[in-house]
Amino acid sequence: MLEAPASAGKEIGEVLLEVRDLKKHFPIEKGFFRSVQGHVKAVDGVSFVIREGETFGLVGESGSGKTTLGRCIVRAIEPTAGEVIFRLPDGDEVDIAAMSRRDLRDVRQHFHMIFQDPYSSLDPRMSVLDIIAEPIRNNKLLSESREIQDRVRALMDVVGLDIQHLNRYPHAFSGGQRQRIGIARSLAPNPRLIVCDEAVSALDVSIQAQILNLLEDLQEEFNLTFLFIAHDLSVVEHISDRVGVMYVGKLVELADSESLFNDPKHPYTEALLSAVPTTDPEIKMDRIILPGEVANPADPPSGCYFHPRCRYAQEICAQETPAWSEVAPGHFAACHFAEELELRGVDEDD
Ligand code: SF4
Repeated sequence: MLEAPASAGKEIGEVLLEVRDLKKHFPIEKGFFRSVQGHVKAVDGVSFVIREGETFGLVGESGSGKTTLGRCIVRAIEPTAGEVIFRLPDGDEVDIAAMSRRDLRDVRQHFHMIFQDPYSSLDPRMSVLDIIAEPIRNNKLLSESREIQDRVRALMDVVGLDIQHLNRYPHAFSGGQRQRIGIARSLAPNPRLIVCDEAVSALDVSIQAQILNLLEDLQEEFNLTFLFIAHDLSVVEHISDRVGVMYVGKLVELADSESLFNDPKHPYTEALLSAVPTTDPEIKMDRIILPGEVANPADPPSGCYFHPRCRYAQEICAQETPAWSEVAPGHFAACHFAEELELRGVDEDD
């Protein structure tokens, strides 16, 4: 099991979620008889833990498998193999990946997913009241109509929505307001874990900052734990205690946020960081342009999947899969040369 260091200034508790060797392989079917010709290994043996009260950022380019991983964790899609051990409020542990659909219904209220697109993730035919109340009703947390309305009003207030707009429909709200509705809905059943899948990507930069600040406030107020999935590293840096970097279905680096951003140990992370915009005019932008595309997860390269794009690749990189190893306390990377390479973080200009 990977240990998570406690982050400064925040109350980080016991392990809440442990993902063990999780896999999601989609079959490639061809021909009249739909015979299986291969698999797209969207998630291929990912392990990490998240502690209570922590924000774990998960980054990677489009196609890296991060969204599929998030969906497997909350069982929005079925994992192919592996375990997702989740600690319930009474201390009991369940394996979300292995539970029957019936048992899953009983624990679903404890974890929730917020989606990227606030425009399409809300049912346009439902009022704000019904959207936010739905998980309360589904989980039979309250039955009296008056109690439900009071709870919805309290949630709207907590996420900064005008409670007078209770009976309005999603089309009457801006993108930022719709994401606030989505957040209020996710809070409704008192979850312990919220998976935010590109939760601010579709919003303007100024609105992004407001939503990120709101999530941080809510985390403190309700002792929430976040898995924050994003392709934008500057967003992840702002909110995360620790960060995992995915490439072609695998984690390639994991560390506390400061170490990962200032002292990356994997060349892929270095390249992603070089694209993070800086507001400091003293810092010279020297973006590392990666050649080619993200490798095909149905037919990945030999050895290190990143080797065709890596500017530090050597012969061994195409031959042997690099081991996942602890390069510094709490800092893990999968690169043959993680301990030797002097990679550039966001605070350096050379
Ligand atoms: Fe680059 Fe080789 Fe490290 Fe892979 S193992 S990231 S190819 S140096």
